[in-house]
Amino acid sequence: MNLKCPLYINGQFIETAEKQNIINPSTGKVIAESSHASVKEVELAISAAREAFDHGPWPHFSLAERKEFISKIAQGILANAGELAQLETHNTGKPIKETTFMDIPSSAKTFEFMADNFAAYLHNEKVNIPEDAQAKIVSEAIGVVVLIVPWNYPLLIACWKLASALAAGNTVILKPSSLTPLTALELAKIIHQAGFPAGVVNVINATGAKIGEHLCADKRVDMVSFTGSNETGKQVLQYSSKNVKKLIMELGGKSANLIFNDVDLDVAVNSSLTSIFLNQGQMCTAMSRIFVQEGIYDNFLASFIEKAKRIKLGLADNFETQMGPLITDAQRKKVIAYIDKAKAEGGQVLCGGKIPEDAELKNGYFFEPTVLVDVGAHLHIAKEEVFGPVVLVHKFSSPDEAVALANSVDFGLAACIWSKDLSLAQDLAKKINAGTVWINTYGMFYNQLPYGGFKQSGFGKELGRHGFLEYTRLKNIIIDQSQAGKPLVNYWYGF
Ligand code: NAD
Repeated sequence: MNLKCPLYINGQFIETAEKQNIINPSTGKVIAESSHASVKEVELAISAAREAFDHGPWPHFSLAERKEFISKIAQGILANAGELAQLETHNTGKPIKETTFMDIPSSAKTFEFMADNFAAYLHNEKVNIPEDAQAKIVSEAIGVVVLIVPWNYPLLIACWKLASALAAGNTVILKPSSLTPLTALELAKIIHQAGFPAGVVNVINATGAKIGEHLCADKRVDMVSFTGSNETGKQVLQYSSKNVKKLIMELGGKSANLIFNDVDLDVAVNSSLTSIFLNQGQMCTAMSRIFVQEGIYDNFLASFIEKAKRIKLGLADNFETQMGPLITDAQRKKVIAYIDKAKAEGGQVLCGGKIPEDAELKNGYFFEPTVLVDVGAHLHIAKEEVFGPVVLVHKFSSPDEAVALANSVDFGLAACIWSKDLSLAQDLAKKINAGTVWINTYGMFYNQLPYGGFKQSGFGKELGRHGFLEYTRLKNIIIDQSQAGKPLVNYWYGF
């Protein structure tokens, strides 16, 4: 192990005294050593970002210059795509096929897209107002933005946030999860090579418990864009309230997959497998609750279980692997605890529910794809985010019942509807309390579309014009054109 993961502050790569081993979840082996920030490095990073925004050249670059910088990040990611895919796979346990064909190219595409579109999104608006005055509404950068990202899509989510925040002209401090800092550091190298002015992008790593409050409560930070769990999100809300700052909160989910009698069974089964077992179920938009209409329930369940049993678990760096390990042993224990509790309260495990016995996998944090039925809606597993390869399957009869079941949890991130009746599906989509509703598909994210949840899944959007504008603030500029000024303003005191 000789891979080091320093911090990146004010254009410099910094090693600190406090280190953490980075583990490959497939093997349990140490693959790198990361430096952890202390309060001192948080101070340095905030000061650097503040200075770069208040006195540096970055906010004053022309839109064309900014576009060039953003495009260079996309090019850098593509030039290093193979290495980035390997790193992400070794650090997260995500199968190499996923990182190679999804995470890394999508990360580059987000920068390309934002480079091509942000100038049009930024258009300033002239407004006709009554009386003899002119007004315009301008979108401008917010200032220093803290970007906090989780371990399940470390590079991709960092890129969603960075592309918008930088295109808007902000300076940033990126905080990866302390479990998965490796690709964020590689991204820092790409950004450094692209010639960004010092302090525009800073990457600091440590546990959230150690530096989160300091980062989010500091007055010099203007905005926090957070993606992570509901519990941590609530803490970030508290810290940020001390200085009233702009927030984006992308939190957890408990999404519902509604499958109607008229679907093509194979398509619905295959897609439902993807929508819960991809990335070992560690997806915010995992469809962890499947509701199947009674006419096809038995056939669906039989086929779903038969195929779930065939999913090929394996070391994440093998291109044949369809499911890798969970991120940590602690995460696996959490998943097992949910299942044990559900079983004790009457839930039935129809497949999986245990650690695989394969000798090759014994040192990693693997867990079999798991299907449960007969789980009461009041149980924790039915209401809370498990964040693992575990799905609950239920029966429904009417469309109204399906919608009520989908909306019965505190989260509102996403939902899927599978039906050939598009008018029914669109009608139901309107009634579903979630930020994204996929009809006859799953997991299609588009750079053009704003993504984000409702209810306890958070607020604010990432991506698209609306996501980009989250990283800007609106200012009114009003110019009076009357010769003598407005009577109310000039003569109120009668002098
Ligand atoms: P987490 O909440 O444990 O951590 C997320 C980030 O917050 C990490 O960088 C972590 O270090 C940091 N953090 C932890 N404590 C903190 C504190 N006190 N102050 C500030 N920062 C702190 O989440 P996770 O386990 O890394 O990721 C999984 C969660 O993320 C799931 O709930 C998942 O649904 C959610 N998620 C949501 C989306 C979305 O777009 N809605 C996308 C991906 C993941």
